[in-house]
Amino acid sequence: MLDNLTQRLAKVVKTMRGQARLTEDNISEMLREVRLALLEADVALPVVKDFIAKVREKAVGQDVIGSLTPGQALVGVVHRELTELMGGAQATLNLATQPPAIILMAGLQGAGKTTTVGKLAKMLREKQKKKVLTVSCDVYRPAAIDQLQAVSQQAGAEFFPSTVAQKPIDIANAAIDHARRHYFDVLLVDTAGRLAIDEAMMEEIKALHAAVKPIETLFVVDAMLGQDAVNTARAFNEALPLTGVVLTKLDGDARGGAALSVRHVTGKPIKFTGVGEKLTGLDEFYPDRMASRILGMGDILSLVEEARQNVDEEQARAFAQKLKTGKGFDLNDFKNQISQMRKMGGLSSLMDKMPAQFAQAASQLQGGVEEKAIRRIEGIINSMTPAERAKPELIKASRKRRIATGAGVQVQEVNRLLNQFEQTQKVMKQLSKGGMGKLMRSMKG
Ligand code: GDP
Repeated sequence: MLDNLTQRLAKVVKTMRGQARLTEDNISEMLREVRLALLEADVALPVVKDFIAKVREKAVGQDVIGSLTPGQALVGVVHRELTELMGGAQATLNLATQPPAIILMAGLQGAGKTTTVGKLAKMLREKQKKKVLTVSCDVYRPAAIDQLQAVSQQAGAEFFPSTVAQKPIDIANAAIDHARRHYFDVLLVDTAGRLAIDEAMMEEIKALHAAVKPIETLFVVDAMLGQDAVNTARAFNEALPLTGVVLTKLDGDARGGAALSVRHVTGKPIKFTGVGEKLTGLDEFYPDRMASRILGMGDILSLVEEARQNVDEEQARAFAQKLKTGKGFDLNDFKNQISQMRKMGGLSSLMDKMPAQFAQAASQLQGGVEEKAIRRIEGIINSMTPAERAKPELIKASRKRRIATGAGVQVQEVNRLLNQFEQTQKVMKQLSKGGMGKLMRSMKG
């Protein structure tokens, strides 16, 4: 998938060497290659333009950290932006409702809806131990109903029979009723597709959607259709409140463009990808893993990750040194500590890793609402100039007002932060004079 992107990037990574910063100049060739590769992969032009602009904005001026080459650092940026393009975090299936959780499948004929119902039924049964019922509302093709019966059996899910003489909404309501009375956790509703989008089909599925009120409405689409897949997704998304997309046939020679564009164009996340015709061929969709797969540069990505971690470690070492000597502890350190806290899951999990007094000072600051409070503190410090952070005593009344305005808080809050910082600094000086041991003893006594 997207082999060309991998190859094009690999070539440029090799040639970009020896500069400490990413600049407009040294990234331009690489960005041109990324652009071409994305277009070749059938990613829609507006998506490509947007993507390139974001990568440029994030990359230019960025220091090349540690032992990385500029090319490697840029791959790191591209990876992060690819992940973002596909939605960032993984989007999971939402089943949190009064059972049965109804999942409506929509899509063109041949997209893989029926197959996906079978795959999903199997996954939900085996991985989440759900009791699953399936039903077909495709009253146009008797074969479709039989096909669903067959895959449901294979998946070990119960199949609710229907006939072409019934109306889709009646079938769905009868199935919901059956699911309620027999305590099914999930009801998967397969629907009729057409070869192309047509008004009658859209009206039918809209009416079905309104009648069954599904918690999930999944749009199933064949990845091999490339940009057409994305256009169909857009049309369905305008007609139905989709909650997610299933991209099928990613095993084929799909150029992968659909995976990159769908989220951007519809605003809806890809939740699953289909690979192969067997019922085991359904994967949850992880944007970061897909980005790694597309880039195909596992080795470089782990170098980037390592370099980032090393920087974190260096910061930690420098901070430990300041803690020990009490010298040079400034608002930058304060802020670094606070960002670390956020990364590590908030204050409470960090308390026992910090000197007690520091933790206490920080916890007074937070006043109970930790995540929000931490962000406010960060906001205030972000509004200071580097000089002010290094020498907080510079911050007099007019500067305080400017900082407060910048951070969108009251001046009192800036004062409070500075007071707390000063106290922390004092404690640290005492610590360095008396040493940790003395402080511990005094706390115990
Ligand atoms: P529906 O008309 O949307 O219900 O589509 P079907 O489920 O009948 O699938 C149409 C064809 O695509 C069938 O031959 C399936 O076996 C095949 N198919 C479905 N999903 C996948 C997939 O992820 N990979 C591959 N290779 N084939 C698939």
